[in-house]
Amino acid sequence: RDSSSPYLSIYQRRYKHHFRRYASRMFQNMGKIQPATSDLSCKSHKLMLYNDILSPCHPGAFSLLPLGQRALEKLIQVIDEELEVTGAQKMSMPSLAPSTLWEETGRWVSAGAELFRIRDRHDLHYCLGPTHEEVITSMVAQLNPLSYKRLPILLYQITRKFRDEMAPKHGLLRGREFEMKDLYTFDATVEDAEKTYRSICEAYCRIFDRLGLPFNKVSGATGNIGGSLSHEFHLSAEVGEDKFLTCDKCGLGTNVELLDKQSAQSQCGRENCELVQSTGIEVGHAFLLGTKYSSVFNAIYQKDDGQPSLTEMGCYGLGVTRVLQAGIEVLSTEDRIRWPNLLAPYQVCIIPQKEGYMAEKFRDMADSLSDRLGELPNMRGEVVIDDRTHLTVGKRLYEAKRIGYPFVVIVGKKALETSPQLEVLDVYEDQTTFLSETQLCQKL
Ligand code: ATP
Ligand code: MG
Ligand code: MG
Ligand code: MG
Repeated sequence: RDSSSPYLSIYQRRYKHHFRRYASRMFQNMGKIQPATSDLSCKSHKLMLYNDILSPCHPGAFSLLPLGQRALEKLIQVIDEELEVTGAQKMSMPSLAPSTLWEETGRWVSAGAELFRIRDRHDLHYCLGPTHEEVITSMVAQLNPLSYKRLPILLYQITRKFRDEMAPKHGLLRGREFEMKDLYTFDATVEDAEKTYRSICEAYCRIFDRLGLPFNKVSGATGNIGGSLSHEFHLSAEVGEDKFLTCDKCGLGTNVELLDKQSAQSQCGRENCELVQSTGIEVGHAFLLGTKYSSVFNAIYQKDDGQPSLTEMGCYGLGVTRVLQAGIEVLSTEDRIRWPNLLAPYQVCIIPQKEGYMAEKFRDMADSLSDRLGELPNMRGEVVIDDRTHLTVGKRLYEAKRIGYPFVVIVGKKALETSPQLEVLDVYEDQTTFLSETQLCQKL
């Protein structure tokens, strides 16, 4: 398409004019003094602070800096794509929820101190939503009379949630405000609700598979949310706050929390059952709610014989900011971030030779390489030129590896040869190859 086409977005239009990203003008490598390691609870938290991804504000609350925000938006895109397949639609609900709604389910009291409570100028009480069963169910109840033909309803949002956690810690892993994807489903029958449940759990599996994050799906506790059937998704990591048992032989998986309540089902019953206990970060949680909330708000539908019946609900949480950090926790080393590939804020960092002999030539080569790579469909907006040529290549390479660019391209002396060669580092595979520009385009 022609760049003057009215159908191009502002971004694409600007892109047509070879928008270049220069590291010197980006909010990264800000040169903060590294805080003492002992102050920090875990690897991913430390890496996110050192690399200008996260900035602490007060306990359990952080500013997500540009690199982190980009990664978050990429994660949201993956979640949206996989939920789209299930037929779910995205919406958003207010963060302020009136106490009256929460009183109807009894959760205004049972949620206890974890609920952030607010009073307005008219002396009305609200909570800052930690989850939204009340809000959505009362909304669906307003659709009465709702024909069975309109079911299932699958609605989700990705919004800020608020919980006054007793012990906020590990950065985004346990914040007092955090991004959650919460999906609510309304079906006609228990069987239909179970089918929806399976389809959403499959979507969760696809999300973690696409992120390249090994996960465990285990039976989970229903807690204050309630319901009959529940599964948690865990990423194994020492900093996790959950323990779960799995058996490879029989496929059993359960949160140990559950065992205490239903004592002694800790064996799967098979002959050679080998239960292994792991520590995990709970990243997602699925609940089959039954009619717990629909009965409170009278969220009903009309069956084909015209009789009213309660909708069968499900709710499905995914800790979006928690996944973002947990992914880093699981994949990274102590001093280098490794992002789930799809989430790396930028895919490529181009490093031209240090200033000196032929400096301008190296800079031009870096610019034109950035333009060419940026034209590859999957590399749009993904290329950064580290133009801080007063620094050695080694210093900039060190930082690029620490931030976790999947690819680094060094435009060095070999780029001046008659058949020019670029030094290409596949950072995650720890491989270096010398490639021509065309070969590099093919690789990417
Ligand atoms: P946890 O057991 O870790 O406190 P939860 O069981 O209370 O989590 P849910 O009510 O199941 O959490 O919420 C759905 C998802 O939201 C969780 O699986 C988790 O990924 C995320 N989440 C919950 N609390 C937090 C928090 N304080 N900070 C970041 N993410 C959170
Ligand atoms: Mg909790
Ligand atoms: Mg939990
Ligand atoms: Mg949970």
